Amino acid sequence: MTLKSVCPRCGEPSPLGLCDRCRREMATLLDCPDSVEVTVCPVCSSALIRGRWQKAEADVQELISDAVAEKIGVHQDLRSPDVTLSVEKKNATQYLVSVHLAGLFGEIPTEEDCTLVAKVRRATCERCSRMAGNYYEATVQVRGSAGSPASGELEESRKIAEAVTESCFLKGDRLSFIQETKNVKGGIDLVVGSTSQGRSIARAIQERFGGATQESYKLAGMRDGKNVYRTSILVRLPRLKSGDLIRARGTFLEVRGFEGKRTACISLREGETVYLSLEDADDAVVIGNRSSAERSLVVSGDRDVLEVLDPESYRTVSVSRPGFLEAKPGNEVEFLRFRGDIILLPPRREGRPS
Ligand SMILES: [Zn+2]
Ligand SMILES: [Zn+2]
Repeated sequence: MTLKSVCPRCGEPSPLGLCDRCRREMATLLDCPDSVEVTVCPVCSSALIRGRWQKAEADVQELISDAVAEKIGVHQDLRSPDVTLSVEKKNATQYLVSVHLAGLFGEIPTEEDCTLVAKVRRATCERCSRMAGNYYEATVQVRGSAGSPASGELEESRKIAEAVTESCFLKGDRLSFIQETKNVKGGIDLVVGSTSQGRSIARAIQERFGGATQESYKLAGMRDGKNVYRTSILVRLPRLKSGDLIRARGTFLEVRGFEGKRTACISLREGETVYLSLEDADDAVVIGNRSSAERSLVVSGDRDVLEVLDPESYRTVSVSRPGFLEAKPGNEVEFLRFRGDIILLPPRREGRPS
């Protein structure tokens, strides 16, 4: 004789205690809160998510959907659960959210619904309130080494500062903002919300133009029982730019880049790399820049001398051949003029934008 298992609740056959139908009837499949709240900054649309202000890529309805999805509970025995949310705006601060859940409970297809209210609270985030309150931690001072830097360099520094500020903010530095950009004698002052943002800006400008940076700070007062310091970061742009053809230490050099305080150059005679100190760089005579180089064809040449065609006079000119130049007849070479002489330039560096 076999003992037939039945459901103790309904008496239907069931191998293991309560049958699926009774378990389904007794279970709460969808655990739904009465309401959810999302907090959004009316100035910048950042949202307060899990206690932290975050830049929200989503709109309010998506933020509400995320908050609801996080708060609702789905019975663990439900297989292939499928949740559908629809958000309907009631007024400026309230939304109605309908939740529909479908799935398989045991073998029984089943569904459940709930509705809840989502409240939108508007509160100025700490970033916007600090911006409005003229808060700042640091000033990046961009200056030329001899007089005012070119306006192009200042304009580019400004753009670099904006890009770095955005990337620091996206990486989570909530105080990364530019409070003010001031035109001052000899350059610009960038007044910024966070010291680490200011350092990143200074580093990026220095990477682009070379030069030196110098940091100092002073006590600005107290806030919440702690000393508040204001940092000044001086970025001194070098007089020389990449691509400058210069005369320094008795020879012609082309500026190729900057490594910390050193200016990396290539010698126009031998093609070797030469490093200039800040003092040497300040003393260098600038003859021209690669960007205004002319082009000429090699007519003939031997080990020491190249005959090139002067594109202005259409005459062949003899120039001493730099040790590194592999020019054959018919090749194009670049040159600059200096006091009536033609100075051949080394080939452009691979991959360098020209
Ligand atoms: Zn049953
Ligand atoms: Zn804000």
